[in-house]
Amino acid sequence: MEITQKSTSPPIACSACFADHGLRLNAEQIGLEETSACPNCGTTDSRKLTNDALIALAHRFFVWGSLHSCEYGAAPQIQFNEHQKTSIDVSPELASDIKVFERLLGIGFFLYGPRLWMIGEVEPLKELQNRHTQKNVVDRILHDFPTRTIGSDYHFYRIRNKPSNPAEPLQYDSPPDSTVGKGRFDSSDLPVLYASPDLQICVHECRVTAEDELYVATLTPNTSTSLRLLDLSALLKDEQGTEFESLDMAIHMLFLAGKHSYEITRAIATAACIAGFDGIIYPSYFSLLRLGVMPFETTYGISHRQIPQYQKYEQAKSIPNLAIFGRPIEQGVLSVQCINRLIMSRVEYNFHFGPSQVSTDGEWTKL
Ligand SMILES: [Zn+2]
Repeated sequence: MEITQKSTSPPIACSACFADHGLRLNAEQIGLEETSACPNCGTTDSRKLTNDALIALAHRFFVWGSLHSCEYGAAPQIQFNEHQKTSIDVSPELASDIKVFERLLGIGFFLYGPRLWMIGEVEPLKELQNRHTQKNVVDRILHDFPTRTIGSDYHFYRIRNKPSNPAEPLQYDSPPDSTVGKGRFDSSDLPVLYASPDLQICVHECRVTAEDELYVATLTPNTSTSLRLLDLSALLKDEQGTEFESLDMAIHMLFLAGKHSYEITRAIATAACIAGFDGIIYPSYFSLLRLGVMPFETTYGISHRQIPQYQKYEQAKSIPNLAIFGRPIEQGVLSVQCINRLIMSRVEYNFHFGPSQVSTDGEWTKL
């Protein structure tokens, strides 16, 4: 949910209206500095919230803040709307805070039973997890997703920590045979060079620390070659059917999943290599963290990926990574344009808060 505070709409609450410390900090992030007295609690030196900002705060704290990740997919455990009365119990610190939202916005909070696609009940995704049905879906992926060709005007980056000879271009090629088979796409007979046009993503993916000795190579396809890549970061528009049958949703969930999904992504890579692709463009696992957006956004339980007016925004949420097959530097497919040292000068994390537990019938559930 986008937070837009129109300066013309008057404040109706403020950060000092709340007792829960995390909620208060969220309200400070969203609220605007203003010295007028809060119409709800009378405080002057607090950050003020308009009606829209208060709705955004409820969403960020209770909905996004109760997001539960499954093996594939994720769904919020709490929702709110104007039609229901509050049917959950929260911790004592939050009990008075929740009344502020109820009174000022006329909303109630309740436990949310997600639509099952949100937690991985997506047919093509289930077929990918079954060895007997996997091949059919992999063939559809190769057929339905677009091919993208990149030439020597396209730059991307690869980071190495403590390479033995930092100035040597081959040090930035795919890892040696002894370490192949541990990543998202590589397997014992298919080495893969991982890179990204987004340097922030490279740093994230390498999980670097301040003590690391880092070097970055700027890579580009050789002037004489262009690379033919299967673009799995594309959003498949015009799909027939719902999220439950959606190949687009299956791929979207696959790349937001952890290591348990690698067996499937390796099968896709092997098939793409056999089909003559030079590599794969795929959405980074860290795309959403990099952009600070909530995964699996929905309106009335319908994925925004399926709603035409949201599709451009949804596509923009996917930051592309590259997986190039083989040893492309040694093979002369990629050239190393430049090698630099990379020094970490500043790291910043953005975060927000959610409730720690919820109850409907005296049984407390941790969130
Ligand atoms: Zn207030």
